[in-house]
Amino acid sequence: METGIPSDHGPVAAQPVAIVLFGSPGSGKGTQSKYIVDWLGIPQISTGDMLRDHIRLGTEIGKSIEARMRAGTLVPDELVNALVAERVTRPDCARGFILDGYPRTTAQARQMMRLLTPLGVEEVVIHLIVDYNVIIARMQGRRVCPKCGTLYNSVSRPPKTEGICDLDGEKLVIREDDRPEVVRERLDQYEAQTRPVIDFFREDHHRVFDVDASRERPEAVFGRIQAMLAGIVAAKEVAV
Ligand code: ADP
Repeated sequence: METGIPSDHGPVAAQPVAIVLFGSPGSGKGTQSKYIVDWLGIPQISTGDMLRDHIRLGTEIGKSIEARMRAGTLVPDELVNALVAERVTRPDCARGFILDGYPRTTAQARQMMRLLTPLGVEEVVIHLIVDYNVIIARMQGRRVCPKCGTLYNSVSRPPKTEGICDLDGEKLVIREDDRPEVVRERLDQYEAQTRPVIDFFREDHHRVFDVDASRERPEAVFGRIQAMLAGIVAAKEVAV
């Protein structure tokens, strides 16, 4: 039977699913997103990446948010809401998608529900819980290649030669928003604006799965996410 679904991916949901990856900066949302993309073949929607693209391309949106992003403060709700609303209507989102870094305020969470309900998309929230000290250690060890963008971490993903990119030999740098003062601001913003979103989800009887992401390696954390999602995404096996 022709399903239009790539046969090399895992199970799919009977109904499109929005997997909301929720957690503080440094909790591993981006890493887990990549695993889920490979597993389910649905796209990752990272508002941080979308906003950085606007800055890189020098668009009007990019110019309007550059200073805030640099300082680690959130950008206006209306702006990210509009970016996400446009993105989820693209054809590659028809079977579902991963939301990485959105919603980050209760106003965004409300808007997300207004967006998903008419689309018939079911949401499930994966809450990555990481100890504060672990987050600080992870973010201090983070380095990026200025040429190819590959991310390294002195603890979990060190380069073969310290300070040098494995792929192109460039000297690694600290990403602008990983500077200590910016990290502090990002964590403050998380506590004040984003943490309450999880209470919003719980109070409103959404499916929220808590995952301890402090101790185990990323692959093991992913294994537990797969187990949690199994009942939801295994509703219909991929026809080959
Ligand atoms: P992290 O989760 O590690 O802080 P992101 O790449 O998700 O990194 O976000 C980087 C920055 O982009 C944030 O500090 C904020 O300025 C902006 N941003 C990303 N997503 C949102 C959002 N949903 N609402 C407001 N600002 C956002």
